[in-house]
Amino acid sequence: MENKIIFGPVKSRRFGTSLGIDLSPAFKQCNFDCLYCELAPAATVDHQSSSVAVDDVMTALQEALDEHPHVDVITVTANGEPTLYPHLDALLERIDALKGGTQTLILTNSAALTNPKVFATLLKFDRVKLSLDAVTPAVFKKIDRPHPGIYAGGIVEAVQRFSREFHGKLYIEVLFVHGLNDSDDEILALNDALMGVRCDRIDIGTIDRPPAYPVQGVSYSELHAIALQFDPSLPIHIASRIHAESCISAYSDEEILNTLDKRPLTPDDVELLFDTASKMRLERLLEQGDVAVRESAGVTFYIPAGNIARKRSKA
Ligand code: SF4
Repeated sequence: MENKIIFGPVKSRRFGTSLGIDLSPAFKQCNFDCLYCELAPAATVDHQSSSVAVDDVMTALQEALDEHPHVDVITVTANGEPTLYPHLDALLERIDALKGGTQTLILTNSAALTNPKVFATLLKFDRVKLSLDAVTPAVFKKIDRPHPGIYAGGIVEAVQRFSREFHGKLYIEVLFVHGLNDSDDEILALNDALMGVRCDRIDIGTIDRPPAYPVQGVSYSELHAIALQFDPSLPIHIASRIHAESCISAYSDEEILNTLDKRPLTPDDVELLFDTASKMRLERLLEQGDVAVRESAGVTFYIPAGNIARKRSKA
C-alpha cells in the first residue's frame, strides 16, 4: 500500500521536481466524472468510502524524502479528487512539520472550495492549482458531470474569494474539449469569471491522454486562438503541446510586437509559431530592449518592453 501512496519524483517545467501523494490509491473517488478524465469512468461520490491513514501517508512520504531529499514540491493529488480526503487538514499539518524548504501544492477541481473547512485548509498550502473548465451551468454539467448538488456559480464565487484570501502561488487550469467549452460564449463567460480571480498563472490546455469518454481535444492553433480571446491582462499560458502542429509563419518586427502585445509568448510558443528569420528578428528586438523577458511563476514570457507594468499578477 505504501508504495502506491507516493509517486515520483517527476520533473515538470511548471512546478519543478515534484513528489506526488495519491490520497485515493486503491480506486477512483471523485465528485466529478469529467468526460476528458484520464482515469476510467466512475460514479461520482461526495466523500471517500475508503481512506488511507495519515500515519501511512507520512511513513511513505518520509521514506521517499529520505531517498529523494532534493524535491521542490510535495504535490497532493489523488486517483480522483484529493479534497475529499477526510484528514486533509491534519495531514497538511504533519507535512508542514517535516517539509523544510520544500513547498506544498494541491491539485483540485475546485468544487470543494464551497466547503468552508476545505477552503480554510487550502489557504494553508504554499501553492494551489484550481481547475475551472466551464462557468455556465449547462456546459459545466456536460463536461465535468458533477455530483448532485455541485453548481458552477458556487464554484466560481468560491474560486474568486479564495484568490483574494490566499497568500501563496495560485494557478488556474482550464482544459478545453472540442465542441464543449470552446465556444465564443463560454470563453467570454470564462474570461469574465477569471477577471475576478487574482492568480499567478492561468494554464490553458487540452486532452493530452486517452480520455474516459469519446471526446476530442483542440489543436494548438485553436488553443492559441482561444488565448487571444481572453483579456490581455490575464496571465494566460498555453500549457498543452501534444497537439502542436506546425503553424510556423513569418513575422515582421511590427507583427512580433503586435502579437506580443495581444498575448505574451513563451519560448515554446515561439518555436511553434515563428520561422527562423522571425526568431532572429525577435532576438534583435530583445537586444534593442524593445522586447523584454518576464518570468511568471516559473514560466518565461516575451512581452513588449512598454507593457511590463501592465500584466496582472498576485505579485
Ligand atoms: S476531477 Fe479530475 S479525477 Fe475527477 S473526473 Fe475530473 S479529471 Fe477525473
